[in-house]
Amino acid sequence: MKKRIYLLYGGKSAEHEVSMRTALSVIQALDFSKYEVSPVYITKEGNWIKKDALLEPPKMVDELKLQSETTMNALVEINKEIVRAIENNEQLPIVFPLLHGPNGEDGTVQGLLEILNLPYVGNGVLASAAGMDKVVMKHLFAQAGLPQVHYLSFNRFEWETNEKEAYDLVEAEIGYPCFVKPANLGSSVGITKCQTREQLQQAFVEAFQFDRKIIIEQGVEAREIEIGLLGNEQPKCSVAGEIVPKADFYDYQAKYEDGNTALIIPADIPQDVYEQIKEIALKAFKVLNCSGLVRADFFVTKTDDVLINEVNTMPGFTPVSMYPLLWKHTGVDYSDLIDQLIEYGCELYQEKQ
Ligand code: ADP
Ligand code: MG
Ligand code: MG
Repeated sequence: MKKRIYLLYGGKSAEHEVSMRTALSVIQALDFSKYEVSPVYITKEGNWIKKDALLEPPKMVDELKLQSETTMNALVEINKEIVRAIENNEQLPIVFPLLHGPNGEDGTVQGLLEILNLPYVGNGVLASAAGMDKVVMKHLFAQAGLPQVHYLSFNRFEWETNEKEAYDLVEAEIGYPCFVKPANLGSSVGITKCQTREQLQQAFVEAFQFDRKIIIEQGVEAREIEIGLLGNEQPKCSVAGEIVPKADFYDYQAKYEDGNTALIIPADIPQDVYEQIKEIALKAFKVLNCSGLVRADFFVTKTDDVLINEVNTMPGFTPVSMYPLLWKHTGVDYSDLIDQLIEYGCELYQEKQ
């Protein structure tokens, strides 16, 4: 009996297209002799559409024009299939959310799946929500004593009430260069590196287009080193990888347009730096209550100081993305990685029953 996998992709997020690409790769990598795959496309408006025809890539988009189903229909159908599986003593299906950014990677979908009592792959509600909010994440890292850059945060109300005071505070406490980011996003959307007050003002306007809360960080000159974690209670660590963007920083284009960034795996770093990265990554995994998978991203300065930048609870997941490549170099290929993630998701679900 094959195990049914519901692949959730698309999503109501600026990272919709990225998720579509991930879904295509995962569909191509899944072993159809082991799994029954049900694609569930989430439109940019947030409607869920469950259509097996979506399995054939060219139809992924065309079919959407014919959409007649709504979120509830899709959910009811999934629920019916699960009840049927339980009644017939079949293997329980599992949901694999291949969603990035808000409304997918931020705990909202995970909450819905919890309510429906469905097993799913990856991080739960708390880890997803905390990992998506850069301010909350950094507060938690600070509490755990993890090394990181200095930062400040403003909400839109504070900024609108006293703009000048906000910029003065940034200049006094952070200085230049600094990075201004929406609190809740990924893929570098809405992020600006600032060198002057004028840029700072524009950066605030830009970042507030995406969120009602923003974060301003001290800009560091550093190498960007990333590591993958895989597991639940005792996650395994991959080798480390380095990102070398050709642009000034690892912006959206550098991330998604070919040839703009080099990934060096394994990263050429001293063993003790790798050990520090591993230790901090494992602490970050624990403090955010993560499960399944995490990519932890670091800055390593010229003097080999290690600072944690962020964790991503649903990192880029195409076969040429950093997380799968890190595991490939650690001896776990893409299909095997998907299998393991599904197993960890089932394991966690069983523990909770
Ligand atoms: P996202 O969640 O969108 O990936 P990040 O916080 O990782 O956001 O920022 C995106 C990129 O911007 C980083 O990979 C790095 O290149 C650059 N960057 C972000 N913050 C800093 C910082 N404080 N100092 C130096 N570079 C930074
Ligand atoms: Mg991120
Ligand atoms: Mg990042």
